Amino acid sequence: MIDLHTHSSASDGTDLPGDLVNKALANGLTTIAITDHDTVSGWDEAIKYLRPGLDLVLGSEISCQTSDGISVHMLGLLFDRENIELSNVLEQTRENRVGRMERIIARMNEAGIEITMAEVRAQMAEGATLGRPHLADALIAKKVVKSREEAFEQLLHNNSKYYIPHYSPTPEEVIGYIKAAGGVAVIAHPLASLRGRTVSIDSFATMISAGLDGIEISHRDHTPEQRDLLHNVVKEFDIIATGSSDYHGNGKLNQLAEFTTEPAAFEALEAKANARRVVRI
Ligand code: AMP
Ligand code: ZN
Ligand code: FE
Ligand code: FE
Repeated sequence: MIDLHTHSSASDGTDLPGDLVNKALANGLTTIAITDHDTVSGWDEAIKYLRPGLDLVLGSEISCQTSDGISVHMLGLLFDRENIELSNVLEQTRENRVGRMERIIARMNEAGIEITMAEVRAQMAEGATLGRPHLADALIAKKVVKSREEAFEQLLHNNSKYYIPHYSPTPEEVIGYIKAAGGVAVIAHPLASLRGRTVSIDSFATMISAGLDGIEISHRDHTPEQRDLLHNVVKEFDIIATGSSDYHGNGKLNQLAEFTTEPAAFEALEAKANARRVVRI
């Protein structure tokens, strides 16, 4: 079983990278990708806990924004972590997330919700990528809401008056950076409309011209109709379909391996990286 999209405490997941690896083994996974938002900081810990029987795919879920302001998440897998340009992009986005959080907090304070940056930071592991789920956790700690789900539903969703995006490069730019770093690019949950506006089916052609290798189709946030639409795109352009859990520990309902990627699809994907980078012990 292959799960190509999971989060650890290096971003907004709640399991330490080592625990994620242990749970992958306990759940019978044979391959797991660790794809924290805009960072590679969980990779070393994940490698440390790796044992025979599990292959580790190192990656990151990279934030993008289209020229129309639509948020897109791009999974970069099997890229060279030494690549300076890609590291710089990730660092820049992590920095932008800090200023953006300060502005969200300021809006909440103006509306009478008492919350501080220090309280949000207290919810985050050292060196992790800051995100709205950490703000949700701080609001839970202050008993403003009961769960991350409730926090997003009531206050943090993309159409909320408190919502502020963070600047990120376009999907085409990010695909270019991932490919230049020798990795593969798979667009994550492209039609998941719970998160706000999504890209149109027509826009896949441009991303594929830029080098997009695959589309994450099997994901809990896609309806059967959306999966059919995406399978048509994959067939038409001869790219790769993946499936994954987008597991966040107990930060989300998503269960490890609830959706998986076919072995043949993963093989085809791996063959597109410029070196064999799957970690195996
Ligand atoms: P951000 O990266 O700061 O824009 O926050 C987006 C993150 O919040 C995504 O990684 C989602 O996994 C998470 N998220 C979005 N909606 C929810 C929700 N309803 N419950 C828990 N986490 C969510
Ligand atoms: Zn997340
Ligand atoms: Fe995502
Ligand atoms: Fe994710």
